[in-house]
Amino acid sequence: MDFHNTDDAVTKRIRAMVDRVAGLKENDLYFYNQPITEMLPGGKVLVNGRIMGMYASYSYLGLIGHPRINKAAKDAIDQYGSGTHGVRTLAGSLRVHNELEETIASFKHTEDAVTYSSGYATNLSVISTLMGRGDYVISDKLNHASIVDGCLMSGAEFRRFKHNDMEDLERRLQQIPADRSKMVMADSVFSMDGDIIDLPKVVELCRKYNAWLMIDEAHSTGVLGKTGRGIEEHFGMDDVIDIKMGTLSKTIPSVGGYVAGKKEIITYLRHASRAYIFSAALPPAQAAAANEAFKIILDEPERIEKLNANSKQFINGLKGAGFNTLQTETAIVPVICGSDELAFKMTRLCQHQDQFVLPVISPAVPEDLARLRATVTAAHDPADIEVAMDVIIRAGQELGVIQ
Ligand SMILES: *Cc1c(COP(=O)(O)O)cnc(C)c1O
Repeated sequence: MDFHNTDDAVTKRIRAMVDRVAGLKENDLYFYNQPITEMLPGGKVLVNGRIMGMYASYSYLGLIGHPRINKAAKDAIDQYGSGTHGVRTLAGSLRVHNELEETIASFKHTEDAVTYSSGYATNLSVISTLMGRGDYVISDKLNHASIVDGCLMSGAEFRRFKHNDMEDLERRLQQIPADRSKMVMADSVFSMDGDIIDLPKVVELCRKYNAWLMIDEAHSTGVLGKTGRGIEEHFGMDDVIDIKMGTLSKTIPSVGGYVAGKKEIITYLRHASRAYIFSAALPPAQAAAANEAFKIILDEPERIEKLNANSKQFINGLKGAGFNTLQTETAIVPVICGSDELAFKMTRLCQHQDQFVLPVISPAVPEDLARLRATVTAAHDPADIEVAMDVIIRAGQELGVIQ
């Protein structure tokens, strides 16, 4: 490489990462960004001409490729074309956007909803629009990066509480002057660990200390609750979260993010949040696909039952073999390996046996808790899950991760 400044801090940062990637590739330990050429039924994918079991997917209900969703997307292209005319406020609000937001509001039992072009942009923009200098944001230590970034961007005082530790959350709340605005933020299901936030206790504390509550339902919409409506349904509570955030890129096989809540909050966001005002609307095909997906979740509840059964099988099998799977209760199953190197080697053994799993390493997770972050979906067949677990277990034994 030939940069104009060969030894400044930026150059060093770039080089360090490039060298790390090259080193992993040389040792056949690099499995990120793989080219998938086809989505196959049964939770499988075609990668470099090989059929692999897909255990790194967030398509929890197996809705990618659903005929009704594909048709809705194609019809939207026929009706509207492929793009919008720009930002919605001035040029690009289509009927299909309003329909999607009505569907989300009804699905989440709220008065209204607003969509953005990604989940990441949603958290960034919504948190920094609602909260500002002089306010306090209180965030679970394991919250998603987009929440952390939104908190930092807001300029509010940033406090973190120990992961899912309600005593620590209360301590933090007590430390904040009573007259200050505050918001508690948490993932519903934690994306690296698969455990569920103690919503009843969080709600109680927010009421006691007069704090706003925002929950990120990226991994619970369509997953938790008997009908897939999310974390409130899971705990038998109705409309106790002020800001219900979610993404349209996981269980919902599209792209985008949303917030559902009271009409006044949504009206405010529609006119104050910069990701809505200064960034283009969702493409019509993606909005229509997302709209149809919410309807299918309600029409085909057996998908949720299948997801729950598959998750149970996957967790019990790996736990039973001796793996540490932390506190997971969901389809996200951390398979703790230990060091980053062990996680990379576990990945290589599994990938060579046609099981698509990926490592999560530091600094995304603590240094000694590097892991395969495996996921199971409703699309998987129980017999295939057995095969995948067999591969993971044999890899773990070979590397001494388990006995
Ligand atoms: C994936 C994810 C996001 C970001 O969503 P995108 O639509 O992919 O940008 C936000 N929060 C959590 C918890 C996530 O897992």
